[in-house]
Amino acid sequence: MSRDCPKVAYFCMEFGLNSDFKIYAGGLGILAGDYLKAAKENNLPVTGIGIRWKQGYVEQHIDDKQRIVDSFYNYEYDFLQDTGIKVNVKIRGRVVHCKVWKVDCFGNSELYLLDTDLRENSDRWITGQLYGWFEEERIAQEMVLGIGGVRALRALKKDIDIYHFNEGHAVFAGFELIRERIGRGEDAHEAWRNCRNNIVFTTHTPIIEGNESHGLDILQYMDAYDGLDRNFIAEIGGNPFNMTAAGLRLSKKSNAVSAMHGRTANAMWKDVHNRSEIISITNGININTWGDKTIIEAARKKENLLELHMKNKIRMIQHVYEEKGVELDKDSLIIGFARRAAPYKRGDLIFSNEEKISPLLKSKKVQIIISLKAHPLDFTGKEIIKHILSIQEKYPQSVVFVNNYNMEKGALLTRGVDVWLNNPRVTKEACGTSGMKAAVNGVLNLSTLDGWWPEACWDEVTGWQIGNGFIGRTESEQDIHDGKSLYDVLINKVLETYYNDKNKWNEMMVASVNAMVERYSADRMIMEYYDKVYK
Ligand SMILES: *Cc1c(COP(=O)(O)O)cnc(C)c1O
Repeated sequence: MSRDCPKVAYFCMEFGLNSDFKIYAGGLGILAGDYLKAAKENNLPVTGIGIRWKQGYVEQHIDDKQRIVDSFYNYEYDFLQDTGIKVNVKIRGRVVHCKVWKVDCFGNSELYLLDTDLRENSDRWITGQLYGWFEEERIAQEMVLGIGGVRALRALKKDIDIYHFNEGHAVFAGFELIRERIGRGEDAHEAWRNCRNNIVFTTHTPIIEGNESHGLDILQYMDAYDGLDRNFIAEIGGNPFNMTAAGLRLSKKSNAVSAMHGRTANAMWKDVHNRSEIISITNGININTWGDKTIIEAARKKENLLELHMKNKIRMIQHVYEEKGVELDKDSLIIGFARRAAPYKRGDLIFSNEEKISPLLKSKKVQIIISLKAHPLDFTGKEIIKHILSIQEKYPQSVVFVNNYNMEKGALLTRGVDVWLNNPRVTKEACGTSGMKAAVNGVLNLSTLDGWWPEACWDEVTGWQIGNGFIGRTESEQDIHDGKSLYDVLINKVLETYYNDKNKWNEMMVASVNAMVERYSADRMIMEYYDKVYK
């Protein structure tokens, strides 16, 4: 890259770099990890700022009484490099020391992680659990990430042109950047205006509760104002202080993560005055992490993919056998569904009409592997898991629930199944990336027209759509409509093709891989960030 290529600091609560480095929870982290890998592979000057979580996110298993068990473990990593640097953040009136670690495997791009687990801290556990505990701890974590993150960059003497806040968690970094300028003699509004030239923001979720907000009083009590005054803070984020609104007002430009999400986000935040423009940059995946090279190469030459895919399918069946003792049939269709158990994703929609699905499960014409992880406090998500477990009990040969969804299982399933099912309520999924992983491996997507799929779906060519983009007036109307459509498409198109037209199936696999492999790569995504928001 040329000398004037902007140097970017990329702030994120989570990074999914590999399965055993437990500083991620789900899609946001995987995206951040894939972004950093793309920066490295393209030799781009990106510095990641994150947190060294002591216990990471929940590990979740089903015990032999079919109960959901949440566990947390302490992790040590021998590959973290001690930078020798510590920065301080004042939280709840106390000084919190944050040690800065470097993750040393990133070439020209780098990742630094802040850590409060130090003997001298009375608040060692701030960086204990990713998305754990309650509001005060969450704010403290976000102060460490944002305020501590900027201070770490200064202590490391990094020269930064652009501060990229990936999701609202990082917006306190904006307070620190403004505070620095006030310290150099600018007045608050001038400092804010000037900072905006260097800040960009990515919004990630159209789910209201996913867009955190906090009362001004609690922010003041936590010392999150970082020396700025209350009215000024309210101008940035409102009262209550909305982290997304703040990100939009602190930045020169913002983006949503798919074309469809761009429309939703613009409607959702239209009343936020003085905000940056929200454009769309669709997410992408790191092909070296998620793609099967042999399949991608064979697809490019338009060779037959069925046999290559069968190897991945058998490997996955073997894994499932080892974990669950269930032997799936390699010559029957296998559907995969794996993601967070967030209710809008409707992990059990396919079981909503048991009369329809029962004969297909009994005859093993349809086999399903499901892996879901619910946030420990997401009781609706846990109900969905329990419903699936009860279905598994009835059809143990064809419905398999795989424990503890993580990157390793994600990779195994997005290579090994035949069809990747995705059925969020339309407009609720910002993008979705697991379907991209499937698509580049010749696993055909069957999905509602939400997130990235309206851009990528050429019905019956690259996969199938469910529901025609219908948006119901109520959730139950939506669910009934989409459930019907799901059975209709599954029976009349998916099963029909799989069992009666293997040629067409192969052609669809080839079309899926070739259409998606460049378009949904993190390489394309990061170049768009440079072209459309950083410069
Ligand atoms: C890819 C991936 C996700 C994101 O999947 P979505 O379909 O976008 O929800 C979440 N968790 C893990 C472990 C993944 O590998």
